[in-house]
Amino acid sequence: MSDNIFDNIDGHAWTNWAGNISATPQQIARPASEAEVVALVQKAAQSGLPVRVVGSGHSFQPLCATDGLLLNLDDLQGVVSADSASGLATVWAGTKLHALGEPLLEAGLALENMGDIDRQSVAGAISTGTHGTGPTLRNLSSQVVGLQLVTAAGEIVEISADGDPSIFKAAQVSLGSLGVITQATLRCLPAYRLHERTWAEPFADCMARLDERIAATRHFEFFWVPGEDMAACKALQPVETETWQLSENPPDLSERLRRYVGPERVEWSHRIFPSERNNRFVEMEFAIAAADGPACMQEIRALMQERHPSVQWPVEYRTLAADDSWLSPTYQRQSVTISVHQAAALPYADFFADAEAIFRNYRGRPHWGKLHSHTAADFAALYPRWNDFLAVRQELDPKGRFLNEHTLSLFGNG
Ligand SMILES: Cc1cc2nc3c(=O)[nH]c(=O)nc-3n(C[C@H](O)[C@H](O)[C@H](O)COP(=O)(O)OP(=O)(O)OC[C@H]3O[C@@H](n4cnc5c(N)ncnc54)[C@H](O)[C@@H]3O)c2cc1C
Repeated sequence: MSDNIFDNIDGHAWTNWAGNISATPQQIARPASEAEVVALVQKAAQSGLPVRVVGSGHSFQPLCATDGLLLNLDDLQGVVSADSASGLATVWAGTKLHALGEPLLEAGLALENMGDIDRQSVAGAISTGTHGTGPTLRNLSSQVVGLQLVTAAGEIVEISADGDPSIFKAAQVSLGSLGVITQATLRCLPAYRLHERTWAEPFADCMARLDERIAATRHFEFFWVPGEDMAACKALQPVETETWQLSENPPDLSERLRRYVGPERVEWSHRIFPSERNNRFVEMEFAIAAADGPACMQEIRALMQERHPSVQWPVEYRTLAADDSWLSPTYQRQSVTISVHQAAALPYADFFADAEAIFRNYRGRPHWGKLHSHTAADFAALYPRWNDFLAVRQELDPKGRFLNEHTLSLFGNG
């Protein structure tokens, strides 16, 4: 490797998936080995350049934006090892979730849960607490048992629950602020098939049977479709599980609802979980206490019907089990997540501000990758281990090399 490791890399503009965040890093680099990551981090330190890492750029917040060095780990992808006996798989941090399913299946393994899409990188999804749905299931960061991290000092450190539990609990959801994750070891399940059923029904019917369905289904979620006031429901069950009686689809489903309702399918889990999201949107999502979910959902619906009837994007309602990652939005709280959307090209600020006011009243914790206006003081009040996280961040990166404007505003430095 030449001394001038930045020489063959042109800085250029970077934009996130939704197009609402852009930046002009001085350098964008694609390291092809862990040694190159180390060299780039060391060189950036000598040049005084701050460093951020980008996964797939699917976050709506300015998490990856930097005017320093932006590291793209697209060349650090693939399964390093997968062991069906232990259920553990070690993967390169830049691996896209969609590139993980088949190699894991070959090893007889599968992720415990997945979100709406599979375009994210492993490290990006872990670092923001990305999740799917299921009242007994935790977010992806909870499947992590070990991380390999390149620190600000350019050292490679292994972080695991068995090693230093404090650093591990801080590192699981850490917004790229502790260093560059190069590998993650995930606890997987034996490969399993899911039975997918989707249907539409009046919102009131969905709410009346919500608790029963959530309790009876490994993965239940619905989208409330404004205007029509219908719920587009999705239930995924492992094939061997007894299933409950389906509602009949109304015969006159609108084209919009038909997008959510398809034929029943049975497939390997990683082929069932992801949907396609081709239209660009912006999103705000909060995790609130599970018991408050229905009341909060009703308030969001009333807000949209009464004050923002022009917003036609559906509202997503999911469930999640409590976990113990310090910055996980579901930290020690059995939760419901509710997310609101708007087309990326349309105004959203007033609507999102009104929705956020409702979520605040429920002591909601925002998804780290999605839009919100919470400040450090808000987070300190919502996260019991906030100061402990700040202490670990300070210890690992005392000069704040991995901070950008957004994360500096949250975590401070010193
Ligand atoms: C269409 C769409 C659908 C979505 N669906 C869901 C969903 O179902 N559930 C859900 O919870 N969220 C969902 N999200 C949000 C998304 O999962 C998160 O924003 C996630 O962080 C994006 O992953 P990414 O690889 O694009 O990460 P990025 O946005 O690129 O980065 C996210 C964070 O991870 C850090 N990071 C990335 N790689 C590394 C690394 N190697 N080392 C250290 N830090 C790193 C970045 O610095 C940044 O702070 C969705 C977003 C979109 C646009």
